[in-house]
Amino acid sequence: MENKKILIIEDEKSISDIIKFNLTREGFGVETAYNGKTGLEQALAGAPDLILLDVMLPLMDGFEVCRRIRESSSVPILMLTAKEEEVDKVLGLELGADDYITKPFGMRELIARIKANLRRADLVGELKDEPANLQEFGNLSIDMNRYEALKNGKALELTLREFELLKYLAERENRVFSREQLLEEVWGYEYYGDIRTVDVTVRRLREKLEDDSSDPQYIMTKRGIGYYFRRP
Ligand code: CA
Repeated sequence: MENKKILIIEDEKSISDIIKFNLTREGFGVETAYNGKTGLEQALAGAPDLILLDVMLPLMDGFEVCRRIRESSSVPILMLTAKEEEVDKVLGLELGADDYITKPFGMRELIARIKANLRRADLVGELKDEPANLQEFGNLSIDMNRYEALKNGKALELTLREFELLKYLAERENRVFSREQLLEEVWGYEYYGDIRTVDVTVRRLREKLEDDSSDPQYIMTKRGIGYYFRRP
């Protein structure tokens, strides 16, 4: 994790300072911005490896900053949320945030999240150079190496997380996984995280993948247990 650069966009200086102190101690390079507008500029100009982004910010809120960064960059973004309504909004909007953490959070949890998101980004970067590994599931084909999925020959616009969930389930056809298992295996968290994240990601994946998301043919629900992939 050395040499990784983290941009903290957080207007509360006491929070920003303590995060900076801890990340520096972990060996990260750290930059800070105290409002949304400057944060956006630094995000686009400074090429950070990961961004910690507060929601309530002066000049431009974190949702807008996230949306603007995503117009040109796939840098991992971890949103810092203060209220339940903000969590709902992060989950409910197609903002493109990779993850969120709710205040107050512990530094160990924050650092674990940062590392998990950086590892994922590295992995995806490496996989892009791999040869294609196309697997067919009826009308759906998934390139397990290159993070691409096609339905009836047409590419699906999946986020990284949606793809990873699809890949994980499809590689284990007909096996049922609980939300907790999926959070651990696909998101890479051990104890942290919110199982609603899994439900929201399944819902979005179905909307993109299924002909009728209310009558799914690929990503199935096992009532009271979890989810599984089946070949239609
Ligand atoms: Ca704030």
